[in-house]
Amino acid sequence: MSRKPIIAGNWKMNKKVHEANELIRELIPLVEETTVECVFCPPYIDLIEAVHLTKDTPIEIGAQNMHWEDHGAFTGEIAGDMLKDIGVKFVIIGHSERRQYNNETDEDVNKKAKKALELDMTPIVCCGETLEQREQGKAQEVVVGQVKKDLANIDDVTKVVVAYEPIWAIGTGKTATNEQADEACGWVRETVREMYGPDAAEKIRIQYGGSVKPDNIVELMAEPNIDGALVGGASLTKDFSDIVNYDKKK
Ligand code: PEP
Repeated sequence: MSRKPIIAGNWKMNKKVHEANELIRELIPLVEETTVECVFCPPYIDLIEAVHLTKDTPIEIGAQNMHWEDHGAFTGEIAGDMLKDIGVKFVIIGHSERRQYNNETDEDVNKKAKKALELDMTPIVCCGETLEQREQGKAQEVVVGQVKKDLANIDDVTKVVVAYEPIWAIGTGKTATNEQADEACGWVRETVREMYGPDAAEKIRIQYGGSVKPDNIVELMAEPNIDGALVGGASLTKDFSDIVNYDKKK
């Protein structure tokens, strides 16, 4: 069973509308031959134009968060339904920065993931341990615990993408070794197997995230449990195309 690789760029709180447009225009010709699923996740205000600019290209557009309700008194929030309406196909859910700065819980993540699926959008559900948890030997327990709660009671889990992102490797320049990354993606797959059976475990796509760059993507993608990457810093320039085109490197 082959899983289509998925490489997504999380732009975080970067790029005004004109800057986003410029980067997208620069990247379109560079990734047009891609064989992977290629997703750009710019800030909300860039989304409408990003969807428009990438129409008829292999690039899909994702948001960085959403609310699980369709509308209502939730000041400052954006509904999944609103994202779907403008053509957004993916949404990052439960990124560690949102868990840290916006107190997002596994229960919130589960509600958001279910809503995204109900709307036919692909949730990219993030999980991962802190440095302290890893040093205490608790990485597996933390990741498995998150996955069990984040992916509880989902109708078709194979439509979810999970991003394993050790927090100590995000934005630090410190990448997990290939072995550490593959081992943890394996914990995610094993948990999906326990929850939903071998077929779901075989089909679900699991990304690694944490200081992925053009010079480490090839070896990460060679690992059996890694089906893609969620990329922060290195998705903000045209060099992101070198990550997307990792399989074309000689
Ligand atoms: C991220 O924020 O999802 C991420 C992996 O960031 P970076 O690639 O900059 O470590």
